[in-house]
Amino acid sequence: MSAAGPGKAALFGPVDAARLRRRREIYTLLPGVAGRGELQCVFQPSVSASGGELRGLESLVRWASPTIGAISPGEFIAMAEESGEIVSIGRWMLDRAIADFARMRRMGLEVPQVSINVSPAQFADAELADFARQTCERHAVDPSRVVLEITESVLVDGSDMTSAAIDALLGAGFVLSLDDFGTGYSNLRSLIRLKLSKVKIDMSFVRRMIEDKASLIVVDTVIRLARGLSCSVVAEGVERQEQADLLRSLGCDEIQGYLVGRPMPFGEFVAWCEGRTDA
Ligand code: C2E
Ligand code: CA
Ligand code: CA
Ligand code: CA
Repeated sequence: MSAAGPGKAALFGPVDAARLRRRREIYTLLPGVAGRGELQCVFQPSVSASGGELRGLESLVRWASPTIGAISPGEFIAMAEESGEIVSIGRWMLDRAIADFARMRRMGLEVPQVSINVSPAQFADAELADFARQTCERHAVDPSRVVLEITESVLVDGSDMTSAAIDALLGAGFVLSLDDFGTGYSNLRSLIRLKLSKVKIDMSFVRRMIEDKASLIVVDTVIRLARGLSCSVVAEGVERQEQADLLRSLGCDEIQGYLVGRPMPFGEFVAWCEGRTDA
């Protein structure tokens, strides 16, 4: 390409500048976001791989900024983790997800469990377990119905603070799930120590497993390992029927992904559930 040198600079310079500007803008908008009514909690279902029964729903945060519009969690969660704002965002999500889950059950929807993503940085909040417990009390939800999704980086951390928070959460009856499994650096000993109930296979393996033998081996191995540890296995990012069929034949317990349902706001999720019961 003749214009590779200067052309590249001319092409990518402004893009980088725009990206940097947006990052700076998000960073300035982050403080206090949870108190401004700009966050929303959406829900994505997971179903049993064998029969398709609803097993749970995962809560995912959405941010609609009145100044710059929609900001995806992929853009702002890492920044919020760095700045510490994740503590108040995380508390807001815990309260919202548990409140909405309680409301769904009062409406008669048979949703067994709600999952909530918890960042490693939230374990720096000494009151995390107390806050979670009180939230459950306030909404009359048993902690055994609340699954906290953590990532392997929590295991790597291994600090006293994190271990104490995990023990307190387990002691209060909360359920732990390991998210994005296969992407981190956890060792098997910490996996066992954690008393996990669920393991979620990262979607990068699920997406490639039909075409790529190595990914298939990872998926198969994770399923066997999890079952050996009496954990249930969830495959995320399932978009195609052939993936769901293969996962079922490998002994995967639950599937989640666009094939089953996209993340939906409260009302849409309720309608989705009701549509299934009528069918
Ligand atoms: P995650 O916890 O691994 O969540 C799965 C992500 O994959 C979600 O993206 C979901 O919308 C998307 N997804 C689900 N099914 C499919 C599928 O079939 N295909 C594809 N391509 N994508 C699918 P989302 O909502 O943008 O969240 C991205 C990440 O941001 C999450 O990854 C999680 O790490 C973080 N996050 C989201 N909400 C929260 C939250 O409330 N608290 C914390 N701490 N992190 C959150
Ligand atoms: Ca998750
Ligand atoms: Ca995940
Ligand atoms: Ca993730």
